[in-house]
Amino acid sequence: MIEVLFLGVGAALPMSGQTNSSYLLRTDKACILIDCGPAIMQQLSAVGVSPGEITHVYFTHRHGDHCLGFPMLMLWWAISAPPAATYPVVIAGELTFKSLEQLVAAIFGGDTEGLLGRIERVTLPDRQPSVVHLTPEITLHTQPLNHAEFAPDLGARFEIGGKVLAFTGDTSPTDNILVLARDADLLVHDSTYCATLNPEFSAGIYGHSTAQISARNATAAGVRRLALAHIDALYEGRQQVLLEEAQRDYRGQVSIPVAGTLFSF
Ligand SMILES: [Zn+2]
Repeated sequence: MIEVLFLGVGAALPMSGQTNSSYLLRTDKACILIDCGPAIMQQLSAVGVSPGEITHVYFTHRHGDHCLGFPMLMLWWAISAPPAATYPVVIAGELTFKSLEQLVAAIFGGDTEGLLGRIERVTLPDRQPSVVHLTPEITLHTQPLNHAEFAPDLGARFEIGGKVLAFTGDTSPTDNILVLARDADLLVHDSTYCATLNPEFSAGIYGHSTAQISARNATAAGVRRLALAHIDALYEGRQQVLLEEAQRDYRGQVSIPVAGTLFSF
């Protein structure tokens, strides 16, 4: 079994009633949370998943919409998990880990040992590709993408039993996206903006992409299925325009998932 369950596809400040971009990648033995924004506890509860099911937490980068929920997720483990429970493995770049430690210290009085002492860490280089064998079945390849100097983004490519699931996180165009997504069964791509409605953003802006860029990358990388994510609140009620924009440059299946959308592979 390989599933991707969408918890939200909003940008930093999502549309009304929607939430930040976050996903669960599930197999028979693992449940990987990809990004952990401020509403993560509500997002998990909305799809009926207990934080205790999470085996790994992967962070694309350290901006608030991707990591502000982490202290509360850790608080759940400290208070509600059975004493012998195995805490999730946390996977992030060096700078992201720095922010996670500062967040936990600022909120819980410096008690980083109590909350962070029991997690296993996988620390990745912020600006180079890397490969990590998360489990015997799951290999993670990361690629540095093109977001912000302060918050470098690491795109994730999970290879699981011949299937490939790729997640860009936040990025403007870079050739590394093609390496990340090569022949992927699913690509979840930053589509913050819409080139049709905002042609001035066509080349990507503020470290983000358009639906058109996502579609062109998906086509160039030979991707089988594309999900547009991190959609700006600017396009509330006009998501169809982003979808049609993507369909013009990509012939595969493309969608803007809502919270609770489940893809099986
Ligand atoms: Zn973001």
